[in-house]
Amino acid sequence: KVELIDVSKSYDRQKDVISNINVTIEPGEFFVLVGPSGCGKSTMLRMIAGLEEITGGTLKIGEKTANRLPPSKRDLSMVFQNYALYPHLTVEENITFGLDVKKVPKADRKKRALDTAEMLGLTDYLKRKPRELSGGQRQRVALARAIVSEAPICLMDEPLSNLDAKLRAHMRSEIRRIQKRLGITMIYVTHDQVEAMTMGDRIMILHSGKIQQIGSPIEIYNHPANPFVATFIGSPP
Ligand code: ATP
Ligand code: MG
Repeated sequence: KVELIDVSKSYDRQKDVISNINVTIEPGEFFVLVGPSGCGKSTMLRMIAGLEEITGGTLKIGEKTANRLPPSKRDLSMVFQNYALYPHLTVEENITFGLDVKKVPKADRKKRALDTAEMLGLTDYLKRKPRELSGGQRQRVALARAIVSEAPICLMDEPLSNLDAKLRAHMRSEIRRIQKRLGITMIYVTHDQVEAMTMGDRIMILHSGKIQQIGSPIEIYNHPANPFVATFIGSPP
């Protein structure tokens, strides 16, 4: 599980961009972090990943306090908004890169890469370079790279933002399917309330760095905690 206890963040040591976040994300849960631009979603995800220092409170991953744990020791994978693929490596090399670092045996690497590529419909593109792919294909390479690591926790920051509506809808259900099949814990950031409501087991709505509500899509839709949530989700008045 991933536990945030009174977690805060300020970039300038004065004003908090994240204030007093308390939440426990359960193993195997699809947890969505949603809110308007600038509310602190990426900051929160980057703190969980270890890419951003936590300036107040405690982060626990499993039973361990993780505030000072280096990113590579956190047993998680991350998909960034811009995918961050290596331009000079092929699709296959991009997918296996993390495994090379982890010293997984070569034959295993190959098999895991091919299985994951298959799962995401990338089999025909393994020898190509990222620049020879469409946005949606690059997106899937980024997903493949996260999945192939077999990390128990996966963090995604607006992974579908560059896709057209049809592909986005398709990828939403693909990500859900893969997450359930592998039983991984997902922490998924989006500013799209439809995406949040359709994908999340639970949703956390953030506004100006503060939690507005945490609950299942149904709970939030039927019982918005405040006018901000009601408007943001589009609940009936
Ligand atoms: P978006 O939906 O636009 O991606 P977000 O919810 O991910 O927004 P963050 O990127 O977490 O928002 O930013 C939260 C706040 O922190 C914003 O006001 C932003 O300007 C500020 N901020 C983010 N990164 C830094 C930084 N490195 N230094 C100073 N302020 C920052
Ligand atoms: Mg962001």
